[in-house]
Amino acid sequence: SEVASYVGRFAPSPSGALHFGSLVAAVGSYLEAVRHHGQWLLRIEDVDTPRTVAGAADAILRTLDRFGFQWDGALVWQSQRTEAYVAALERLRRDGHAFPCACSRRELADSTLARDGSRRYPGTCRDGLPAGRSARAWRVRAEGRICFTDAIQGEIEEDLARDVGDYVILRADGLFAYQLAVVVDDADAGITHVVRGADLLDSTARQIHLQGLLGMQVPAYAHLPVATNPAGEKLSKQTLARAIDDRPPAAALYDALVFLGQTPPPELARSSLHTAWEWAKYNWHIEQIPRLRHAVAPEFNMEN
Ligand code: GLU
Repeated sequence: SEVASYVGRFAPSPSGALHFGSLVAAVGSYLEAVRHHGQWLLRIEDVDTPRTVAGAADAILRTLDRFGFQWDGALVWQSQRTEAYVAALERLRRDGHAFPCACSRRELADSTLARDGSRRYPGTCRDGLPAGRSARAWRVRAEGRICFTDAIQGEIEEDLARDVGDYVILRADGLFAYQLAVVVDDADAGITHVVRGADLLDSTARQIHLQGLLGMQVPAYAHLPVATNPAGEKLSKQTLARAIDDRPPAAALYDALVFLGQTPPPELARSSLHTAWEWAKYNWHIEQIPRLRHAVAPEFNMEN
């Protein structure tokens, strides 16, 4: 079969209903895929089972449906992908990139805070577990400088050893870390372009690092401004984000387009959903997206 030249995705975590911030990520990734005549895949990121809220995945799917999003291929659930994550860990271990770590959260907090206040891993178990201790988690050796050009945020550079330190890929609670899961899933799905919120910009260097260690293709990245409340906090149930289901979808889509720097005519907010999507697909320009890491969501705008 033909290899698609653009494969994008939307990868919501089922930790609550979709709010404006997640709508922005869905709209941005979808319209980029449409503009490139590419595919747009959907993955439910339920790898972090303690944070998964019962019913949230179904609610997300219903909302996406209500907005008229159409995804290609089969829906992927991270909770069904453990075997692939185990294989990746095994490969990293075999190649000497991953090591077991016995440190507890408490020990790490004490040692790093005492030194320089950073949250970087101090390297305690890097050269072997201390005598009498057993593995709690698995980490990857963080080495080198990662540079990439983000289509929205520009040149990004991170010194992994200095800024992050050896990072966890298998957590002490036995769950695979998001960093590993997302890299394995994106590679297996053949994702060529990742469009998502800039709250994940700090994770990208680790993901590119893992892609290198696992011999995977590095996708192109575009990080959208993250919608916040006026205090600058990312929208969530805790920051009292309004669910987007209580509004006409065309109105919410209109707001997402404006948030992303597009210039829809005001009447689009009251048009049919079909008309709103037609305008969006035809007029979408990634270059117009503000080069910001975050911006206040319109629901906090007094005029709204
Ligand atoms: N599951 C992540 C979230 O909902 C997104 C991960 C990604 O797009 O890479 O914030």
